[in-house]
Amino acid sequence: MRIAAKEAAPGIAALALVAVTIAALSGERILYGDPTGDVPLEMPEQLGPWTGEAVWFCQNDQCARSFPESELDARAAAGEGAGGEEAAPAEPAAARKCPDCGGELSIVSLGENTLLPVETPIFRRVYHRVGHPDVLATVVFSGMERRSIHRPQVCLVSQGNRILDEYTASFASGPSDEAGRVPKMPLRVLQVVFPIKDPVTGRTVSQAPSAYAYWLFSPEYETVQHLARFARMLFDNCFRSYRPRWGYASLSIAVDPENPEGWREEIDEFLPLFRPVIDGVRARLAARRNVPLRLSGTSASANEYRGTNTITTVHPGR
Ligand SMILES: [Zn+2]
Repeated sequence: MRIAAKEAAPGIAALALVAVTIAALSGERILYGDPTGDVPLEMPEQLGPWTGEAVWFCQNDQCARSFPESELDARAAAGEGAGGEEAAPAEPAAARKCPDCGGELSIVSLGENTLLPVETPIFRRVYHRVGHPDVLATVVFSGMERRSIHRPQVCLVSQGNRILDEYTASFASGPSDEAGRVPKMPLRVLQVVFPIKDPVTGRTVSQAPSAYAYWLFSPEYETVQHLARFARMLFDNCFRSYRPRWGYASLSIAVDPENPEGWREEIDEFLPLFRPVIDGVRARLAARRNVPLRLSGTSASANEYRGTNTITTVHPGR
């Protein structure tokens, strides 16, 4: 009898695991971690020597250009604009059209609107610093829908970029200590090129190289591996009924062909200022640990954003 029980134990354990998982995933259940609540984050306007502003994206897939808000203001003031109409500089940017093609403008890129579930919160600013390349900082959060954090390898390619290289590298993540040691953290790096096309002929006239570096975080964990995030989410969901929002923070910097490695120094200077912003939102999300969400039916149907402090994706064409 004892031997038989011993032999059967792994099988029984596996069956019990399956039963628990099925019970956890079906029927009415309560999830914790507030995955539909607002995200308590503001992208700072000032980060040390960097000054941030909003970015607008053309929704015409043949154009797909992006513009810092100050550039839209300047071009509107210069009389440029949709169809050469008298563009009033006082007009809110949301009402403006793409100065290059006249397409709709949105604070969310066409690729994000197309690929991400609706109600995906996106925080973004482009940071300027005199004498330095711009840093485009974006933070996207998952909700009830796991797809909300899309592999950038898919998203970047769908937006017309070509990935040349991909690797994990280590960057400065905070100020140096008394001994001069600089804390480091890993980021996943994608080196990409975006083909610049002639708007008339549609022919590629040049290639714009950039570096794209990201990491993934929940209130408790961070990683640069999508698979590790997925395993963690599955475990938390099944065995802890814990479904916090996961965030995906990325930095994008144009690569100067004259100084092809210079972007690394930019990240080494920018990340120690940006990282505390992310740590702050992680701590505030962790404080929502015990907020319950009563769920019946599929979890995707409960996907929503109850905050008002940022922009969420919509279906293209609304
Ligand atoms: Zn356009």
